[in-house]
Amino acid sequence: MTDTLERFLFENRQIRGEIVTLESSFNSIIKNKDYPEIVQKLLGELVAAASLLTATLKFKGEISLQIQSEGFVRYAVVNGTHELDVKGVAKWDETLDSPPSNFKHCFKKGILAITLTPENGTRYQGMVSLDQDSLADCLENYFLQSEQLLTTVVLATDLSNTPKAGGFLVQVIPTSSEATNVANTPDYEHVSYLTRTIKSDELFAISHKEMIHRLFHEDDIRIFEPQMVNFKCDCSRERCAGALRNVNKSELLSMVAEEGSIKMDCQFCHSVYDFDAIDIENIHAQNLDSGSA
Ligand SMILES: [Zn+2]
Repeated sequence: MTDTLERFLFENRQIRGEIVTLESSFNSIIKNKDYPEIVQKLLGELVAAASLLTATLKFKGEISLQIQSEGFVRYAVVNGTHELDVKGVAKWDETLDSPPSNFKHCFKKGILAITLTPENGTRYQGMVSLDQDSLADCLENYFLQSEQLLTTVVLATDLSNTPKAGGFLVQVIPTSSEATNVANTPDYEHVSYLTRTIKSDELFAISHKEMIHRLFHEDDIRIFEPQMVNFKCDCSRERCAGALRNVNKSELLSMVAEEGSIKMDCQFCHSVYDFDAIDIENIHAQNLDSGSA
């Protein structure tokens, strides 16, 4: 079963875990553009990571993982909602003939920003620099620095045949302020060590339950109901109209006069929303209705 995520709990240790494998949602993201393989790989790891992070959201809303850099990869973003709807896009330096061969060389002054946006409540953003050998290592750093949580992350993509992306995470459940003290968590060290033995081809070859049991057969583990991960874009004509409402009307009308209409193209799903002069008049008439005075 692909495009599912399973959370699990060690009954006798203060540790939780998650496993995810993605196929159709990942493919919907990478088919949008002619991405170089290394960017496809990055998007795969980002969407697996976003799924792992959103599966434990305690509020309705979304998490975005956003990369900014001055190197080969310029920009990449993957969003995941509390319902595990994911979408993503990336931009890279298309003038370069040969893309870098590894993660670290994709970035220059690379930053990963993780933003939690509840539907109701305050936004929270944490950042970590992309100076490690893998995205998984950067995320482990993020959890340690921003949340003081010991976390082991494994991320993988397989671009042969039908592209797949997957991830595995184990994390100490904080019970006290000492939760991150390594000396106090020999349990965690053991579980983390076993997690790092996962091979990416294994992750895609066997079921989630089998994987968990193979790694932790000595442990009593509770596995929760699988959750589906879907590619879904929340763009709409109304949202685009909302954005146009904030732009000067005469400016928009002169654009329509020049181009025939205003076309807004969603960067995530490539839906195109078209607005003509009458639409612009209507959008700005609503501005007056809502009493901008
Ligand atoms: Zn869209």
